Amino acid sequence: MSNEFDVVVIGGGPVGLWLACELALAKVKVLVLERRTERVTQSRALTLHGRTLEVFALRGIAERFLSQGRANPGFFFGGLDTLLDFSTLESRFPFTLFLPQATTERLIEERALELGVDIRRGHLVEQVEQNADSVIIRGRNGETPFGFAARYAAGADGARSIVRQALAIDFVGHPARHAMTLADVALDAPPEKPVLTLVNEAGGLVLAPRGDGVHHRIGVIDASSPYLAPSAPVSLAEVAACAARIFGRDLRPRDPVWISRFTDESRLAECYRKGRIFLAGDAAHINPPMGGQGMNVGIQDAMNLGWKLASVIRGTASDEILDSYQSERRPIGEALQDDTLAQFALFSAFDPPALALRRMLSGFLRVPEVNRQLADQLSGFGVAYPEPLFQAEHNWDHRKGVSGHRLSDGDLVLRDGSRTTLYRYLQEGRWVLLQVAAESDATPVRDAINLVSLAPGANDGLLGNFASMLVRPDGYVAHVRAVDDAGGIEFAA
Ligand SMILES: Cc1cc2nc3c(=O)[nH]c(=O)nc-3n(C[C@H](O)[C@H](O)[C@H](O)COP(=O)(O)OP(=O)(O)OC[C@H]3O[C@@H](n4cnc5c(N)ncnc54)[C@H](O)[C@@H]3O)c2cc1C
Repeated sequence: MSNEFDVVVIGGGPVGLWLACELALAKVKVLVLERRTERVTQSRALTLHGRTLEVFALRGIAERFLSQGRANPGFFFGGLDTLLDFSTLESRFPFTLFLPQATTERLIEERALELGVDIRRGHLVEQVEQNADSVIIRGRNGETPFGFAARYAAGADGARSIVRQALAIDFVGHPARHAMTLADVALDAPPEKPVLTLVNEAGGLVLAPRGDGVHHRIGVIDASSPYLAPSAPVSLAEVAACAARIFGRDLRPRDPVWISRFTDESRLAECYRKGRIFLAGDAAHINPPMGGQGMNVGIQDAMNLGWKLASVIRGTASDEILDSYQSERRPIGEALQDDTLAQFALFSAFDPPALALRRMLSGFLRVPEVNRQLADQLSGFGVAYPEPLFQAEHNWDHRKGVSGHRLSDGDLVLRDGSRTTLYRYLQEGRWVLLQVAAESDATPVRDAINLVSLAPGANDGLLGNFASMLVRPDGYVAHVRAVDDAGGIEFAA
Protein backbone atom coordinates (compact mmCIF):
# COMPACT_ATOMS: atom_id res chain seq x y z
CA MET A 1 0.00 0.00 0.00
CA SER A 2 1.43 3.38 -1.00
CA ASN A 3 0.00 5.44 1.88
CA GLU A 4 2.13 4.38 4.83
CA PHE A 5 2.33 6.01 8.24
CA ASP A 6 3.75 5.15 11.63
CA VAL A 7 0.37 5.77 13.24
CA VAL A 8 -3.11 6.44 11.90
CA VAL A 9 -5.46 8.09 14.40
CA ILE A 10 -9.13 7.53 13.61
CA GLY A 11 -11.17 10.50 14.84
CA GLY A 12 -10.14 14.14 14.94
CA GLY A 13 -11.91 15.17 18.16
CA PRO A 14 -9.96 16.61 21.09
CA VAL A 15 -8.51 13.22 22.08
CA GLY A 16 -7.39 12.09 18.62
CA LEU A 17 -5.89 15.49 17.90
CA TRP A 18 -3.99 15.59 21.19
CA LEU A 19 -2.63 12.11 20.57
CA ALA A 20 -1.51 13.21 17.13
CA CYS A 21 0.22 16.26 18.66
CA GLU A 22 2.18 14.07 21.07
CA LEU A 23 3.25 11.71 18.30
CA ALA A 24 4.24 14.52 15.96
CA LEU A 25 6.23 16.17 18.75
CA ALA A 26 8.39 13.02 18.77
CA LYS A 27 8.72 13.21 14.95
CA VAL A 28 6.46 10.23 14.40
CA LYS A 29 4.68 10.19 11.02
CA VAL A 30 1.02 10.46 11.97
CA LEU A 31 -2.21 10.78 10.02
CA VAL A 32 -5.60 11.79 11.46
CA LEU A 33 -8.71 10.61 9.62
CA GLU A 34 -11.84 12.58 10.51
CA ARG A 35 -15.23 11.91 8.94
CA ARG A 36 -16.53 15.47 9.44
CA THR A 37 -15.70 18.00 6.78
CA GLU A 38 -15.88 20.92 9.23
CA ARG A 39 -14.79 21.40 12.80
CA VAL A 40 -17.47 20.87 15.50
CA THR A 41 -19.17 24.04 16.75
CA GLN A 42 -21.12 22.55 19.70
CA SER A 43 -20.00 23.55 23.19
CA ARG A 44 -20.26 20.08 24.82
CA ALA A 45 -17.35 19.98 27.29
CA LEU A 46 -17.18 23.28 29.10
CA THR A 47 -14.46 22.47 31.60
CA LEU A 48 -10.73 22.12 31.42
CA HIS A 49 -9.73 20.79 34.81
CA GLY A 50 -6.38 21.42 36.48
CA ARG A 51 -4.52 18.34 35.30
CA THR A 52 -5.51 18.92 31.67
CA LEU A 53 -4.20 22.48 31.98
CA GLU A 54 -0.99 20.99 33.39
CA VAL A 55 -0.84 18.64 30.39
CA PHE A 56 -0.95 21.68 28.12
CA ALA A 57 1.57 23.49 30.34
CA LEU A 58 3.92 20.49 30.11
CA ARG A 59 4.08 21.26 26.40
CA GLY A 60 4.23 25.03 26.88
CA ILE A 61 0.79 25.92 25.49
CA ALA A 62 -1.44 26.43 28.56
CA GLU A 63 -1.63 30.20 28.00
CA ARG A 64 -3.49 29.70 24.73
CA PHE A 65 -6.38 28.12 26.65
CA LEU A 66 -6.19 30.35 29.73
CA SER A 67 -6.44 33.50 27.65
CA GLN A 68 -9.79 32.38 26.16
CA GLY A 69 -11.62 30.95 29.16
CA ARG A 70 -12.77 31.88 32.61
CA ALA A 71 -11.10 30.37 35.70
CA ASN A 72 -13.34 29.18 38.50
CA PRO A 73 -11.96 27.98 41.84
CA GLY A 74 -15.00 25.84 42.73
CA PHE A 75 -17.01 23.16 41.00
CA PHE A 76 -20.05 20.94 41.54
CA PHE A 77 -20.03 17.42 42.84
CA GLY A 78 -23.37 15.72 42.18
CA GLY A 79 -24.98 19.15 42.28
CA LEU A 80 -24.45 19.29 46.07
CA ASP A 81 -24.75 22.74 47.64
CA THR A 82 -21.15 22.67 48.91
CA LEU A 83 -18.82 23.09 45.96
CA LEU A 84 -15.48 21.35 45.57
CA ASP A 85 -12.71 23.78 46.40
CA PHE A 86 -9.83 23.61 43.92
CA SER A 87 -8.16 26.73 45.31
CA THR A 88 -6.13 24.80 47.88
CA LEU A 89 -4.69 22.29 45.40
CA GLU A 90 -0.95 22.55 44.74
CA SER A 91 -0.69 23.59 41.14
CA ARG A 92 -0.27 26.63 38.95
CA PHE A 93 -3.87 25.82 37.96
CA PRO A 94 -5.94 25.56 41.17
CA PHE A 95 -9.21 26.03 39.30
CA THR A 96 -11.30 24.72 36.46
CA LEU A 97 -11.35 26.71 33.24
CA PHE A 98 -14.71 27.29 31.60
CA LEU A 99 -14.06 27.03 27.88
CA PRO A 100 -16.39 25.61 25.19
CA GLN A 101 -15.17 22.36 23.64
CA ALA A 102 -15.24 23.93 20.18
CA THR A 103 -12.53 26.38 21.30
CA THR A 104 -10.50 23.64 22.97
CA GLU A 105 -10.64 21.60 19.77
CA ARG A 106 -9.65 24.56 17.63
CA LEU A 107 -6.62 25.28 19.82
CA ILE A 108 -5.51 21.64 19.81
CA GLU A 109 -5.96 21.45 16.06
CA GLU A 110 -3.86 24.60 15.61
CA ARG A 111 -1.11 22.98 17.66
CA ALA A 112 -1.37 19.80 15.57
CA LEU A 113 -1.02 21.76 12.34
CA GLU A 114 2.00 23.65 13.73
CA LEU A 115 3.61 20.29 14.44
CA GLY A 116 2.92 19.13 10.89
CA VAL A 117 0.17 16.59 11.59
CA ASP A 118 -1.57 15.39 8.42
CA ILE A 119 -5.31 15.87 9.13
CA ARG A 120 -7.71 14.63 6.48
CA ARG A 121 -11.30 15.70 6.91
CA GLY A 122 -14.24 14.10 5.14
CA HIS A 123 -12.58 10.69 5.59
CA LEU A 124 -15.02 8.14 6.98
CA VAL A 125 -13.25 5.02 8.22
CA GLU A 126 -15.26 1.84 7.57
CA GLN A 127 -12.82 -1.03 8.13
CA VAL A 128 -9.85 -1.60 10.38
CA GLU A 129 -7.80 -4.81 10.19
CA GLN A 130 -4.44 -5.82 11.56
CA ASN A 131 -1.81 -8.46 10.92
CA ALA A 132 1.52 -9.19 12.61
CA ASP A 133 3.26 -6.12 11.15
CA SER A 134 0.69 -3.50 10.33
CA VAL A 135 -2.81 -2.09 10.47
CA ILE A 136 -4.88 -1.53 7.33
CA ILE A 137 -7.54 1.20 7.41
CA ARG A 138 -10.11 1.57 4.66
CA GLY A 139 -13.01 3.90 4.08
CA ARG A 140 -14.52 6.56 1.85
CA ASN A 141 -13.86 10.21 1.16
CA GLY A 142 -17.25 11.08 -0.33
CA GLU A 143 -17.61 8.45 -3.05
CA THR A 144 -13.86 7.86 -3.35
CA PRO A 145 -12.46 4.84 -1.50
CA PHE A 146 -9.20 5.17 0.41
CA GLY A 147 -6.79 2.79 2.14
CA PHE A 148 -3.86 3.42 4.48
CA ALA A 149 -1.34 1.16 6.14
CA ALA A 150 0.33 1.99 9.44
CA ARG A 151 2.48 0.31 12.05
CA TYR A 152 -0.09 1.23 14.70
CA ALA A 153 -3.58 2.75 14.87
CA ALA A 154 -5.63 4.47 17.54
CA GLY A 155 -9.41 4.65 17.72
CA ALA A 156 -10.30 8.08 19.07
CA ASP A 157 -13.56 7.92 17.17
CA GLY A 158 -15.99 8.59 19.98
CA ALA A 159 -18.80 6.72 21.70
CA ARG A 160 -19.89 4.66 18.69
CA SER A 161 -16.30 3.81 17.77
CA ILE A 162 -16.01 1.74 14.62
CA VAL A 163 -12.52 0.76 15.76
CA ARG A 164 -13.86 -0.71 19.00
CA GLN A 165 -16.48 -2.61 17.02
CA ALA A 166 -13.95 -3.87 14.47
CA LEU A 167 -11.84 -5.24 17.32
CA ALA A 168 -14.94 -6.85 18.92
CA ILE A 169 -14.16 -5.14 22.23
CA ASP A 170 -17.16 -5.19 24.57
CA PHE A 171 -18.44 -1.84 25.82
CA VAL A 172 -19.63 -2.87 29.24
CA GLY A 173 -21.80 -0.79 31.54
CA HIS A 174 -25.22 0.63 32.19
CA PRO A 175 -27.92 1.70 29.72
CA ALA A 176 -29.56 5.12 29.93
CA ARG A 177 -32.24 5.53 32.60
CA HIS A 178 -32.45 9.31 33.01
CA ALA A 179 -32.23 12.21 30.60
CA MET A 180 -31.04 15.75 31.28
CA THR A 181 -31.45 18.80 29.06
CA LEU A 182 -28.85 21.41 28.48
CA ALA A 183 -28.91 24.87 26.96
CA ASP A 184 -26.20 27.46 26.41
CA VAL A 185 -28.12 30.72 26.63
CA ALA A 186 -27.99 34.39 27.54
CA LEU A 187 -30.02 35.18 30.69
CA ASP A 188 -32.09 38.34 31.07
CA ALA A 189 -32.74 37.62 34.75
CA PRO A 190 -29.65 35.74 35.96
CA PRO A 191 -29.32 34.60 39.56
CA GLU A 192 -26.98 36.51 41.85
CA LYS A 193 -24.38 33.74 41.96
CA PRO A 194 -22.86 32.93 38.55
CA VAL A 195 -22.22 29.29 39.54
CA LEU A 196 -25.28 27.68 41.02
CA THR A 197 -26.78 24.30 41.74
CA LEU A 198 -30.19 23.47 43.12
CA VAL A 199 -32.01 20.17 43.65
CA ASN A 200 -35.52 20.01 45.10
CA GLU A 201 -38.87 18.28 44.56
CA ALA A 202 -39.20 19.93 41.12
CA GLY A 203 -35.90 18.57 39.78
CA GLY A 204 -32.20 19.37 39.47
CA LEU A 205 -30.59 22.54 38.08
CA VAL A 206 -26.96 23.49 37.46
CA LEU A 207 -25.89 26.81 36.07
CA ALA A 208 -22.44 28.09 35.14
CA PRO A 209 -20.97 30.80 32.92
CA ARG A 210 -19.90 29.48 29.53
CA GLY A 211 -16.65 31.41 29.63
CA ASP A 212 -17.40 33.86 26.80
CA GLY A 213 -18.78 36.60 29.09
CA VAL A 214 -22.26 36.38 27.54
CA HIS A 215 -23.74 32.92 27.77
CA HIS A 216 -24.52 30.59 30.65
CA ARG A 217 -24.94 26.87 30.59
CA ILE A 218 -28.17 25.62 32.17
CA GLY A 219 -28.59 21.92 32.85
CA VAL A 220 -31.90 20.58 34.16
CA ILE A 221 -33.55 17.29 35.07
CA ASP A 222 -37.32 17.57 35.34
CA ALA A 223 -38.66 15.51 38.26
CA SER A 224 -42.07 15.23 36.61
CA SER A 225 -40.91 14.26 33.12
CA PRO A 226 -40.59 10.61 32.00
CA TYR A 227 -37.34 9.36 30.44
CA LEU A 228 -36.85 10.76 26.94
CA ALA A 229 -34.26 9.47 24.46
CA PRO A 230 -31.51 11.95 23.48
CA SER A 231 -33.01 12.10 19.99
CA ALA A 232 -36.35 13.46 21.33
CA PRO A 233 -36.82 17.12 20.34
CA VAL A 234 -35.85 19.67 22.96
CA SER A 235 -36.82 23.35 23.04
CA LEU A 236 -35.73 26.46 24.90
CA ALA A 237 -39.25 26.78 26.31
CA GLU A 238 -38.96 23.32 27.91
CA VAL A 239 -35.60 24.16 29.53
CA ALA A 240 -36.82 27.60 30.64
CA ALA A 241 -40.03 26.24 32.22
CA CYS A 242 -38.21 23.47 34.06
CA ALA A 243 -35.47 25.83 35.32
CA ALA A 244 -38.15 28.27 36.56
CA ARG A 245 -39.97 25.49 38.46
CA ILE A 246 -36.77 24.46 40.22
CA PHE A 247 -35.34 27.96 40.79
CA GLY A 248 -38.64 29.53 41.80
CA ARG A 249 -38.68 32.25 39.16
CA ASP A 250 -38.06 32.71 35.46
CA LEU A 251 -34.38 33.18 34.57
CA ARG A 252 -35.53 34.50 31.16
CA PRO A 253 -33.14 32.57 28.95
CA ARG A 254 -32.81 33.64 25.31
CA ASP A 255 -30.57 33.29 22.24
CA PRO A 256 -29.61 29.63 22.70
CA VAL A 257 -26.35 28.73 20.98
CA TRP A 258 -26.83 25.04 21.74
CA ILE A 259 -29.62 22.91 23.20
CA SER A 260 -29.28 19.22 23.73
CA ARG A 261 -30.48 16.21 25.68
CA PHE A 262 -28.13 13.61 27.12
CA THR A 263 -28.40 10.60 29.39
CA ASP A 264 -26.69 8.74 32.21
CA GLU A 265 -25.50 5.90 29.95
CA SER A 266 -22.13 4.74 31.22
CA ARG A 267 -19.79 2.23 29.56
CA LEU A 268 -16.17 1.17 29.63
CA ALA A 269 -14.24 -0.77 26.99
CA GLU A 270 -13.26 -4.23 28.16
CA CYS A 271 -9.68 -3.51 27.05
CA TYR A 272 -7.81 -0.49 25.67
CA ARG A 273 -5.36 -2.37 23.43
CA LYS A 274 -5.60 -5.21 20.97
CA GLY A 275 -2.32 -5.90 19.20
CA ARG A 276 -1.34 -2.81 17.25
CA ILE A 277 -4.54 -0.88 17.89
CA PHE A 278 -5.50 1.28 20.89
CA LEU A 279 -8.66 2.99 22.11
CA ALA A 280 -8.71 6.41 23.76
CA GLY A 281 -11.27 8.96 24.95
CA ASP A 282 -14.98 8.33 24.39
CA ALA A 283 -14.14 5.27 22.27
CA ALA A 284 -12.93 3.72 25.54
CA HIS A 285 -15.34 5.24 28.07
CA ILE A 286 -18.61 7.14 28.09
CA ASN A 287 -20.23 8.61 31.17
CA PRO A 288 -22.88 11.11 32.12
CA PRO A 289 -21.03 14.44 31.94
CA MET A 290 -21.27 15.02 35.72
CA GLY A 291 -18.24 16.89 36.98
CA GLY A 292 -17.21 17.73 33.41
CA GLN A 293 -14.66 14.96 33.15
CA GLY A 294 -15.03 12.91 29.92
CA MET A 295 -12.89 15.01 27.61
CA ASN A 296 -10.37 15.73 30.36
CA VAL A 297 -9.84 12.04 31.03
CA GLY A 298 -9.67 11.39 27.28
CA ILE A 299 -6.94 14.00 26.73
CA GLN A 300 -5.02 12.45 29.61
CA ASP A 301 -5.43 9.00 27.97
CA ALA A 302 -3.86 10.48 24.85
CA MET A 303 -1.03 12.02 26.88
CA ASN A 304 -0.28 8.63 28.44
CA LEU A 305 -0.33 6.77 25.13
CA GLY A 306 1.46 9.34 22.97
CA TRP A 307 4.97 9.23 24.37
CA LYS A 308 4.90 5.46 24.91
CA LEU A 309 3.89 4.77 21.32
CA ALA A 310 6.44 7.29 20.06
CA SER A 311 9.19 5.62 22.14
CA VAL A 312 8.44 2.21 20.64
CA ILE A 313 8.31 3.59 17.10
CA ARG A 314 11.58 5.45 17.59
CA GLY A 315 13.20 2.37 19.07
CA THR A 316 13.92 3.76 22.54
CA ALA A 317 11.48 1.42 24.30
CA SER A 318 10.28 -2.13 23.80
CA ASP A 319 6.72 -3.08 22.90
CA GLU A 320 5.97 -4.09 26.51
CA ILE A 321 5.66 -0.47 27.56
CA LEU A 322 2.50 -0.27 25.44
CA ASP A 323 0.67 -2.67 27.77
CA SER A 324 1.12 -0.14 30.54
CA TYR A 325 -1.24 2.18 28.65
CA GLN A 326 -4.12 -0.11 29.55
CA SER A 327 -2.87 -1.00 33.03
CA GLU A 328 -2.42 2.70 33.88
CA ARG A 329 -5.44 4.22 32.18
CA ARG A 330 -8.25 1.64 32.39
CA PRO A 331 -8.44 1.90 36.20
CA ILE A 332 -8.90 5.65 35.70
CA GLY A 333 -11.81 4.83 33.37
CA GLU A 334 -13.29 2.56 36.06
CA ALA A 335 -12.97 5.27 38.68
CA LEU A 336 -14.58 7.75 36.28
CA GLN A 337 -17.53 5.41 35.85
CA ASP A 338 -18.11 5.16 39.62
CA ASP A 339 -17.59 8.87 40.14
CA THR A 340 -20.03 10.00 37.44
CA LEU A 341 -22.70 7.41 38.28
CA ALA A 342 -22.55 8.39 41.95
CA GLN A 343 -22.86 12.06 41.00
CA PHE A 344 -25.77 11.35 38.69
CA ALA A 345 -27.53 9.37 41.42
CA LEU A 346 -27.24 12.40 43.71
CA PHE A 347 -28.52 14.74 41.04
CA SER A 348 -31.45 12.71 39.75
CA ALA A 349 -33.42 11.67 42.85
CA PHE A 350 -35.91 14.15 44.27
CA ASP A 351 -37.88 12.33 46.98
CA PRO A 352 -37.44 13.33 50.66
CA PRO A 353 -34.93 10.55 51.56
CA ALA A 354 -32.73 11.46 48.58
CA LEU A 355 -32.86 15.15 49.45
CA ALA A 356 -31.92 14.30 53.06
CA LEU A 357 -28.96 12.27 51.79
CA ARG A 358 -27.85 15.22 49.69
CA ARG A 359 -28.00 17.58 52.68
CA MET A 360 -25.94 15.16 54.73
CA LEU A 361 -23.29 14.67 52.02
CA SER A 362 -23.18 18.40 51.39
CA GLY A 363 -22.24 18.75 55.08
CA PHE A 364 -19.49 16.15 54.69
CA LEU A 365 -18.07 18.21 51.82
CA ARG A 366 -17.44 21.01 54.29
CA VAL A 367 -14.83 18.75 55.94
CA PRO A 368 -11.63 19.93 54.23
CA GLU A 369 -10.10 16.44 53.88
CA VAL A 370 -13.23 15.06 52.23
CA ASN A 371 -13.54 18.05 49.93
CA ARG A 372 -9.86 17.76 49.06
CA GLN A 373 -10.10 14.08 48.15
CA LEU A 374 -12.96 14.63 45.74
CA ALA A 375 -11.35 17.79 44.34
CA ASP A 376 -8.17 15.76 43.68
CA GLN A 377 -10.25 13.14 41.92
CA LEU A 378 -12.19 15.55 39.72
CA SER A 379 -9.26 17.79 38.83
CA GLY A 380 -7.14 14.78 37.77
CA PHE A 381 -4.41 15.74 40.26
CA GLY A 382 -5.11 12.57 42.23
CA VAL A 383 -4.04 10.29 39.37
CA ALA A 384 -0.86 8.33 40.12
CA TYR A 385 0.84 5.40 38.40
CA PRO A 386 2.47 3.53 41.29
CA GLU A 387 3.52 0.40 39.35
CA PRO A 388 7.06 0.66 37.89
CA LEU A 389 7.25 0.83 34.09
CA PHE A 390 10.66 -0.85 34.12
CA GLN A 391 13.24 -2.10 36.56
CA ALA A 392 15.99 0.46 36.92
CA GLU A 393 19.58 -0.37 37.78
CA HIS A 394 22.42 1.26 39.72
CA ASN A 395 20.54 1.94 42.94
CA TRP A 396 17.66 3.68 41.24
CA ASP A 397 14.55 3.06 43.24
CA HIS A 398 10.89 2.88 42.62
CA ARG A 399 9.86 4.34 45.97
CA LYS A 400 6.35 3.95 47.25
CA GLY A 401 4.68 7.28 47.89
CA VAL A 402 6.98 9.09 45.43
CA SER A 403 7.25 7.13 42.21
CA GLY A 404 4.26 7.40 39.95
CA HIS A 405 3.17 10.73 41.41
CA ARG A 406 2.55 13.76 39.28
CA LEU A 407 4.88 16.73 39.55
CA SER A 408 3.37 20.17 39.40
CA ASP A 409 5.36 22.93 37.74
CA GLY A 410 7.82 23.78 40.52
CA ASP A 411 10.66 26.29 40.57
CA LEU A 412 14.17 24.95 39.99
CA VAL A 413 17.51 26.49 40.96
CA LEU A 414 20.12 25.39 38.45
CA ARG A 415 23.75 24.61 39.16
CA ASP A 416 24.83 28.13 38.05
CA GLY A 417 22.32 29.71 40.47
CA SER A 418 19.82 30.76 37.80
CA ARG A 419 16.12 30.06 38.36
CA THR A 420 13.72 28.33 36.04
CA THR A 421 10.76 25.96 36.16
CA LEU A 422 10.45 22.21 35.77
CA TYR A 423 7.95 22.12 32.91
CA ARG A 424 10.33 24.05 30.65
CA TYR A 425 12.35 20.85 30.36
CA LEU A 426 9.35 18.70 29.51
CA GLN A 427 8.15 20.74 26.55
CA GLU A 428 9.86 18.52 23.98
CA GLY A 429 8.16 15.42 25.38
CA ARG A 430 11.43 13.83 26.55
CA TRP A 431 12.36 12.19 29.84
CA VAL A 432 13.95 14.57 32.34
CA LEU A 433 16.65 13.61 34.77
CA LEU A 434 16.95 16.06 37.67
CA GLN A 435 20.26 15.74 39.49
CA VAL A 436 22.14 17.78 42.03
CA ALA A 437 25.34 19.10 40.51
CA ALA A 438 28.01 16.75 41.89
CA GLU A 439 26.02 13.73 40.67
CA SER A 440 25.31 15.02 37.20
CA ASP A 441 29.03 15.34 36.38
CA ALA A 442 29.37 11.57 36.43
CA THR A 443 26.09 10.52 34.92
CA PRO A 444 26.00 9.25 31.37
CA VAL A 445 22.51 9.70 29.92
CA ARG A 446 20.74 8.57 26.81
CA ASP A 447 19.70 10.84 23.95
CA ALA A 448 16.06 10.60 24.93
CA ILE A 449 16.71 12.24 28.31
CA ASN A 450 17.11 15.91 29.22
CA LEU A 451 19.68 16.15 32.01
CA VAL A 452 19.05 19.08 34.36
CA SER A 453 21.90 19.90 36.69
CA LEU A 454 20.63 21.47 39.93
CA ALA A 455 22.28 23.57 42.66
CA PRO A 456 22.97 21.45 45.77
CA GLY A 457 20.61 22.13 48.69
CA ALA A 458 18.40 24.56 46.77
CA ASN A 459 15.68 22.25 45.44
CA ASP A 460 14.68 20.24 48.48
CA GLY A 461 11.02 21.11 48.06
CA LEU A 462 10.99 19.09 44.85
CA LEU A 463 13.71 16.51 45.41
CA GLY A 464 13.35 15.97 49.16
CA ASN A 465 16.19 13.72 50.27
CA PHE A 466 16.89 12.37 46.84
CA ALA A 467 19.91 13.27 44.74
CA SER A 468 18.22 12.42 41.48
CA MET A 469 14.76 12.09 40.10
CA LEU A 470 13.79 10.65 36.73
CA VAL A 471 10.63 12.24 35.33
CA ARG A 472 8.49 10.66 32.62
CA PRO A 473 7.58 12.71 29.53
CA ASP A 474 4.04 13.06 30.93
CA GLY A 475 5.29 14.64 34.14
CA TYR A 476 5.07 11.70 36.58
CA VAL A 477 8.02 10.54 38.71
CA ALA A 478 9.50 7.26 37.44
CA HIS A 479 12.45 6.59 39.74
CA VAL A 480 14.51 8.32 42.40
CA ARG A 481 18.01 7.82 43.75
CA ALA A 482 19.22 8.53 47.26
CA VAL A 483 21.98 11.06 48.00
CA ASP A 484 24.85 8.73 48.62
CA ASP A 485 24.28 6.31 45.76
CA ALA A 486 26.48 6.52 42.70
CA GLY A 487 26.45 5.31 39.11
CA GLY A 488 24.86 6.19 35.80
CA ILE A 489 21.38 5.45 34.67
CA GLU A 490 20.53 2.48 32.51
CA PHE A 491 16.94 1.72 31.92
CA ALA A 492 15.16 -0.53 29.58
CA ALA A 493 11.94 1.35 29.02
C1 LIG B 1 -23.68 17.57 26.99
C2 LIG B 1 -22.28 17.18 27.22
C3 LIG B 1 -21.50 17.92 28.08
C4 LIG B 1 -20.19 17.55 28.32
N1 LIG B 1 -19.45 18.28 29.18
C5 LIG B 1 -18.17 17.92 29.42
C6 LIG B 1 -17.34 18.72 30.24
O1 LIG B 1 -17.76 19.75 30.76
N2 LIG B 1 -16.06 18.31 30.44
C7 LIG B 1 -15.56 17.18 29.85
O2 LIG B 1 -14.39 16.85 30.06
N3 LIG B 1 -16.32 16.43 29.02
C8 LIG B 1 -17.60 16.77 28.79
N4 LIG B 1 -18.35 16.05 27.93
C9 LIG B 1 -17.76 14.86 27.27
C10 LIG B 1 -16.92 15.26 26.04
O3 LIG B 1 -17.71 15.99 25.14
C11 LIG B 1 -16.35 14.01 25.40
O4 LIG B 1 -15.75 13.22 26.39
C12 LIG B 1 -15.31 14.35 24.32
O5 LIG B 1 -15.90 14.92 23.19
C13 LIG B 1 -14.58 13.09 23.88
O6 LIG B 1 -13.63 13.41 22.91
P1 LIG B 1 -13.16 12.31 21.85
O7 LIG B 1 -12.14 12.97 20.99
O8 LIG B 1 -12.81 11.06 22.56
O9 LIG B 1 -14.48 11.94 21.05
P2 LIG B 1 -15.37 12.91 20.09
O10 LIG B 1 -15.35 14.32 20.58
O11 LIG B 1 -16.69 12.22 19.96
O12 LIG B 1 -14.59 12.84 18.74
C14 LIG B 1 -14.59 11.69 17.93
C15 LIG B 1 -14.32 12.12 16.51
O13 LIG B 1 -14.23 10.95 15.70
C16 LIG B 1 -14.90 11.19 14.49
N5 LIG B 1 -15.32 9.88 13.96
C17 LIG B 1 -16.23 9.05 14.48
N6 LIG B 1 -16.33 7.94 13.72
C18 LIG B 1 -15.48 8.10 12.69
C19 LIG B 1 -15.13 7.29 11.57
N7 LIG B 1 -15.70 6.09 11.36
N8 LIG B 1 -14.21 7.74 10.70
C20 LIG B 1 -13.60 8.95 10.90
N9 LIG B 1 -13.90 9.76 11.94
C21 LIG B 1 -14.82 9.33 12.82
C22 LIG B 1 -16.07 12.09 14.89
O14 LIG B 1 -16.57 12.81 13.78
C23 LIG B 1 -15.44 12.97 15.93
O15 LIG B 1 -14.90 14.15 15.40
C24 LIG B 1 -19.67 16.41 27.67
C25 LIG B 1 -20.44 15.67 26.78
C26 LIG B 1 -21.75 16.06 26.54
C27 LIG B 1 -22.57 15.27 25.58
